[in-house]
Amino acid sequence: MSHDPNCLFCKIAAGQIPAAKVYEDDELLAFKDIHPAAPVHLLVIPKAHIASLADADASHAPLLGRMLALAPKLALEQGASNGFRVVINTGHDGGQEIHHLHLHVMGGPRPWKHG
Ligand code: AMP
Ligand code: ZN
Repeated sequence: MSHDPNCLFCKIAAGQIPAAKVYEDDELLAFKDIHPAAPVHLLVIPKAHIASLADADASHAPLLGRMLALAPKLALEQGASNGFRVVINTGHDGGQEIHHLHLHVMGGPRPWKHG
């Protein structure tokens, strides 16, 4: 499994840096975003280092599918029972700051938005 020793999310996947994990299996890890932008804000990552969605190709389709399929399950478990957003910031112009593929899952009540 590819691992970039300078990558923060590789270090989290390897257990070298702590994270508030909410899900883990052989190839995926999900944990709480350290600066949540919503009441529920999770990050779903592959344990293998893939720098961004721009580095994924058709061979990654099953992995990407499993990442996406995990989102509603975790959103519900974490209390986002009324909807959520899924975002993959990609590359410089996409606002990506951590260069290890990750899917943001953001949900939970947003009273400031809906009154
Ligand atoms: P992006 O801009 O899509 O690359 O998002 C990176 C996200 O990683 C941001 O929302 C950060 O708050 C989050 N983040 C950075 N460091 C950590 C960390 N150590 N544990 C959890 N989330 C982190
Ligand atoms: Zn990495």
